[in-house]
Amino acid sequence: MDHRKARKIDIHVHWGGGARAKAKEDLAEQMRLHREEYGIEKMVVFASSAELDQILDKHPDIIPFLHIDMDEESPGRIAEARRQGCYGVKFILPMRRYDDDGYLPLYEECAKQNMIALFHTGVVAGAGGEKQRHKRTSSDFMRPSTLDRVGRVFPELTIIGAHIGYPWYNEAAALQRWHKNIYFDGSTAQFHYVNDKNRVPGETRQFPAALFLKMLYQTGDLHLRKTLFGSDTALCVGRGTGCMDWCLPRTQQPIEDMGWTQAEVEDFYWNTSKTLLEKAGCTIE
Ligand SMILES: [Zn+2]
Repeated sequence: MDHRKARKIDIHVHWGGGARAKAKEDLAEQMRLHREEYGIEKMVVFASSAELDQILDKHPDIIPFLHIDMDEESPGRIAEARRQGCYGVKFILPMRRYDDDGYLPLYEECAKQNMIALFHTGVVAGAGGEKQRHKRTSSDFMRPSTLDRVGRVFPELTIIGAHIGYPWYNEAAALQRWHKNIYFDGSTAQFHYVNDKNRVPGETRQFPAALFLKMLYQTGDLHLRKTLFGSDTALCVGRGTGCMDWCLPRTQQPIEDMGWTQAEVEDFYWNTSKTLLEKAGCTIE
């Protein structure tokens, strides 16, 4: 089966934003192409407070999440984002571990507002950049294990970790197993983790994550019913939908190599994300 034809919800999309944001007509064209060429019927798109109005009410297939600055913005901002139409909050680059006491009010507000909490987990791109330097952050603050306490304190909160915790996949899989409310998105074989020179059409080489994930799948540790399709692409930037030409084969090939069942493939691309988003009050048709 060609995975391009599978019906999809993309749970991890960044808003290109700023000067790169295109006019509404271009956005509609991008969304149409994603739907027709790649089967992507809905997209969860992360935008900051400054950029949120560029996606709110702009397209019915865009599901907005607030990309919060967790050290600068307050729980009140989360409540406001809910009123504005967001269904979740994206967390990344904390100044302390995700499970620090000081951050708990943010998660408490997400739970109160029935919003999904989506966390970057794993080693983060952009080392040496001014923002990360200023925040004195560390990928260690974003290890999957830092979500363990969050999951225990807020069992009612839907938690999604990104990238299956790259490269701490086994940690992520263990959390999936023991926490009813913790899920991971499967964006592990995409842009951050391979070199540009590896972008060869039709190539069949293994990707860095694939061997580890295959092992976790074969031992029964990787829970595919709790793993979600996410592209980690950026909407409306230069390469446009071309990103998906790169992403989808690199998602399909490891899945086929692992030998997922058809039901697992459908859960990954559609069913599980639909269930979680509907629980957060978002209608998916
Ligand atoms: Zn991302």
